[in-house]
Amino acid sequence: MSSNPSASRPNPDHATWLKGPEYPCDLPGPGPRRPWHIVLLGPPGVGKGTQADLIVQTFGACQLSTGEIFRNAIAAGLDRASPAMRQALVEMQRGALVPDDLVVEIVRERLRCLSCTQGFLLDGFPRTRSQAEALDGILAEAGTTLDAAVNFMANDAEIITRISGRRVCRACKATINLDISPPRIAGVCDKCGGALFQRDDDKPEVVRNRLVAYHATAKPVLDFYRSKGLLHEIPVGNTPLDTFEKTHKVLLAV
Ligand SMILES: [Zn+2]
Repeated sequence: MSSNPSASRPNPDHATWLKGPEYPCDLPGPGPRRPWHIVLLGPPGVGKGTQADLIVQTFGACQLSTGEIFRNAIAAGLDRASPAMRQALVEMQRGALVPDDLVVEIVRERLRCLSCTQGFLLDGFPRTRSQAEALDGILAEAGTTLDAAVNFMANDAEIITRISGRRVCRACKATINLDISPPRIAGVCDKCGGALFQRDDDKPEVVRNRLVAYHATAKPVLDFYRSKGLLHEIPVGNTPLDTFEKTHKVLLAV
C-alpha cells in the first residue's frame, strides 16, 4: 500500500450525525487532502464498516452510518428523537422496514454533516433506487455532488459464514469475528472485558432473509450509479487489508 501514515488524521467525532439536526457540525482541522463524497454499497456483512474505518484512517473522511444512527436513537430513547426518527423507530419495533421517505428525512436532517469539510462516507444509505435519487437532491441542497459509489462484492454463502461468526461487546460495542480475531478468553471482549454476544440480526436464518431483501433492492441502486458512471465494483479479498488495497487504488483514481 502506498498510503502515507503521516497524512492520516484522527477519526473525526461524528457525534453530530448521531445526535440529530439540532447539533452544529463543527469538525476541527483543515480536513483531508481532498473531501471525498462516497457511498459504500454491498450486502450486509461484506465488511463495509471495516473498509470505512480504513478509509477514514487513511483519507480522513467522516464516516456516516445510518445503522449507527438507528442504534444510537434506540439507545437514547423515543422521547429524544425527531418526529421522523420516532416514526422510524416505531416501524422498526413492529419489525417493518423503515419507509424510504422517513429514511430520507432522517438523512436530510443531517445536511450539515453531508457538507462537512471532511467529506463523507455514507454507509447503509442509499438502500433503494428512490433513496439514491433523493440523495442526489439532498447533496444538491448541501452544495455538493457524489464522487463515487463503491460496491463491495461477495457471494451469499461467504457472507452467511462471516456474519455468523460476528460478536459484539455489550460494554464497548466493539465488533469482532470469531473466525478472524477470536478473543483471548471465549465470550469476553479483549479490549474491555465486557461480555460478547451475537446480535439477533447476525443469526444465520436472519442473515439469509436479509440477503434476499438486499438483492431485491440493491440491483436498481447499482444500475442507477452505473448509469451515472459513478459505480466502482470491488470483489472482497481474503483479508480486510487485501480489500483495502483495491479500495485505495479506486479512491485515488476518482
Ligand atoms: Zn468491549
